[in-house]
Amino acid sequence: GDDTRIARISSAIRVIPDFPKPGILFQDITTLLLDPRAFRDSIDLFVERYKDKNISVVAGIEARGFIFGPPIALAIGAKFVPMRKPKKLPGEVISEEYSLEYGTDVMEMHVGAVQAGERALIVDDLIATGGTLCAAIRLLGYQSARKLFHDMDGGENRPKILERVGVDVVECACVIELPELKGRDRLGDKPLFVLING
Ligand code: AMP
Repeated sequence: GDDTRIARISSAIRVIPDFPKPGILFQDITTLLLDPRAFRDSIDLFVERYKDKNISVVAGIEARGFIFGPPIALAIGAKFVPMRKPKKLPGEVISEEYSLEYGTDVMEMHVGAVQAGERALIVDDLIATGGTLCAAIRLLGYQSARKLFHDMDGGENRPKILERVGVDVVECACVIELPELKGRDRLGDKPLFVLING
């Protein structure tokens, strides 16, 4: 059952203290990948949840969202969209800055990768403060606002009302949540589904 699978996944994840710096308990999913049964169980649990939810986009966050996102996307018949670190994507991109513990970072995606009205699932390995997922949610929403803007600029008959039509972010999914950091509270009305608590 689910409990057996969750237990197998949980015990396959290695916890390394003081990585990458003192005081951080690093949740290392590379040991989960070494256990094909546990890795498959993790993908299956997500696929069982999302297969009948009409999701057309799985957005995976660099780097470990690129491990879990694509097998989920293939199994549910959705496209996969990479959300990348800056200056990696070759086409036209839109960017979103977000704050880290020290300083800021930027996430990028290709313009045109998603269309207004699509239903998206965002995938990463872990939610800590929620800042990363929050940026991904903003980026997917902004994408469609910008597309509408392009359409208006190019058309003869501009719509009288500027309406922000968004990609519908249905849910965020992570293998691990660190609940003490309350990242879930930063996601606003977006639901978060996780397999285990770290
Ligand atoms: P946050 O934006 O604070 O929710 O951080 C989540 C991102 O940082 C994810 O992409 C994780 O891969 C990574 N991360 C943060 N804390 C940890 C941790 N303790 N162990 C492993 N990865 C982490």
